[in-house]
Amino acid sequence: MNFQQRLKNETMNTENKVSITILVPAGRLPLEIMKTVSQLAEKHSFHLYLSISQNLRLIDVPESAAEEIKATLAAGGAEFKAPGKFPLPRVCVGMDHCNLAVIDTEALNRKILDKFAGRKHTKAKFKIAISACTMCCSGVKTTDIGIMATRDGYELFAGGKGGPFPKIGRRIARNASEETILEMTEALVEFHDKKTEKKQRMYKLLDDLQFPYQEK
Ligand code: SF4
Repeated sequence: MNFQQRLKNETMNTENKVSITILVPAGRLPLEIMKTVSQLAEKHSFHLYLSISQNLRLIDVPESAAEEIKATLAAGGAEFKAPGKFPLPRVCVGMDHCNLAVIDTEALNRKILDKFAGRKHTKAKFKIAISACTMCCSGVKTTDIGIMATRDGYELFAGGKGGPFPKIGRRIARNASEETILEMTEALVEFHDKKTEKKQRMYKLLDDLQFPYQEK
């Protein structure tokens, strides 16, 4: 290895590394984006991490290449996690892919994202989860807003959380229609926005006297 190559390697090894998170709605990553990610990972020697919240995080990305990588991916339709963006629901695989499923989680996920597409800014830090049956594979009972399908309609949970002190959410709807669940989700998001300065988990709002729903 000559001096110039050694210097180049040393520069690369000491360069700042950053991460870039690609949003993956309903856990479905388009093949074209996957292909581009793979090519970029080889070119820039970064690694991939499938995040707990079902997104694709590019890790160990050389900071000097980050903008170029984002631009290349954005041209192919990728969207990135950023402050103020509405949180993508975490969903189980749903109908046609699991024989216990009673709903198409991808379709419900799309309806939720379409419903909130116009929001300019969403306050952190609530999450949404959708399960297509009562097995709760996506953690609906330990998520801020949890939508669970049953054979008799939907159940909705609010204020669940994981972490070192997990909490089961309060069930606020039973045997509900999809339309009702979407309306209630909207009301919860608006309530969270009204009652939150910068960021707040939903469980902190459960005892607020104005919390819009009782336990069911
Ligand atoms: S929650 Fe139910 S439908 Fe969804 S993946 Fe788990 S078992 Fe299947």
